[in-house]
Amino acid sequence: MDFSLSDEQKLLRKNTAEFLEKNLKPFVREIDNNGEIPMEFFRKAGENGIISPLIKLKYGGPSLSFMDSVIISEEIARIDTSMATSVYYLLNTSWAYVLQKYGKQELKDKLLPEIANGSRFIGIASTEPSGGSDVANITTTGRIENGKVIINGEKMYISGAVEAKKNGGGHLTLVKTKEGVGHKGITMVYVPANADGIEITKLNNMGRMGISTSGIKYTNVEVPEENIIGEINEGFYYSMDGFNHARIMVAAACNGLSYKMLEEGLNYIKERKAFGKHLSDFEAISFEAADLSTDIEMAALLNYKAAYLADVEDPDFYIYSSMSKLKSPQIAMDTTKKVMMWFGAYGYTKDSGIEMAARGIFSYLVGAEGALNIMKVIISKAILK
Ligand SMILES: Cc1cc2nc3c(=O)[nH]c(=O)nc-3n(C[C@H](O)[C@H](O)[C@H](O)COP(=O)(O)OP(=O)(O)OC[C@H]3O[C@@H](n4cnc5c(N)ncnc54)[C@H](O)[C@@H]3O)c2cc1C
Repeated sequence: MDFSLSDEQKLLRKNTAEFLEKNLKPFVREIDNNGEIPMEFFRKAGENGIISPLIKLKYGGPSLSFMDSVIISEEIARIDTSMATSVYYLLNTSWAYVLQKYGKQELKDKLLPEIANGSRFIGIASTEPSGGSDVANITTTGRIENGKVIINGEKMYISGAVEAKKNGGGHLTLVKTKEGVGHKGITMVYVPANADGIEITKLNNMGRMGISTSGIKYTNVEVPEENIIGEINEGFYYSMDGFNHARIMVAAACNGLSYKMLEEGLNYIKERKAFGKHLSDFEAISFEAADLSTDIEMAALLNYKAAYLADVEDPDFYIYSSMSKLKSPQIAMDTTKKVMMWFGAYGYTKDSGIEMAARGIFSYLVGAEGALNIMKVIISKAILK
């Protein structure tokens, strides 16, 4: 067993960190305040091959691995601790992966080069107003006739709809194509955000302000049959494949954020004094640091294992990606909270940046890419079968 990164991966981490330091760090506060990541950033990230790294060379991507994608995800979250850029990245990475794996050739030729170069966004539209965990019971319909899919219904809490409409892009959208058969009647369709009949309503989120979350209403939205991903009525399985892989990236982002928060916390407690000593001299604080450091290391190792298993196409990888998605957001929140306490009153100010991270990380506790209890449902089913 080899725990070291390859020379290429070390270089990828270094180059990514340098690129982000220059092209993202100066704008992080602005992104959180203005609710928008500059399009220019995505183009530059595309040029550097870090906006959707799993896309193959023949479509203009860098053809990197899941482990490589994890490295990029960690680095993005270290810099944009609001998590907004991480969310954009992980959606573009994971759902481009699904398009590349199951999509029709014509659609792939059209979309993948633009996703890889950063000019097009791709996300997932699964959740509906009635709930997100119970995917099999979606009610948005897709009627297939005369070479078209006609979509009616409503999706909710969908990331990136505003950006997709403005900058170009859309969502792999789950629609019911056969009634009465639960998850076996769901089809996945690529729906551009600017299609006629789509109405997007942006929600007022508490965090990760640089990427929108919206409700999407579909009224007789027509897309060509070529936009159907893979086989009709198989969309549930493609979406689970996508979510299982996306969870690796989510956990990597949480771990990147944890590393960054802890780093800032350690620097602070080594400097700040109380009762004539550095805060780090009090075991109440240094022991917390030891616990957090251990938790983050465990979370990262579990995440690397999930990425490794995804890379070697081990069918059990999903258990580890679910474990990773279960633990990493909780560890990131715990780290953020404890570091905020170490900072004292300064931690409660916006200047410290800690509240921005806390607002972002909460999205992965409440549900984005699957609620924590759903991770437990998946893991318990797997270990008890
Ligand atoms: C910021 C943000 C962005 C999002 N972006 C997207 C997106 O781009 N695309 C998309 O499709 N969705 C998106 N979502 C929705 C996300 O996928 C859902 O929040 C998630 O699937 C949970 O669904 P729900 O919120 O409707 O909660 P529900 O399904 O209503 O669940 C509510 C609570 O009940 C618990 N629960 C549910 N079932 C069980 C069970 N069987 N056992 C025990 N507990 C259970 C859950 O853990 C949760 O705590 C986003 C959510 C957020 C917060």
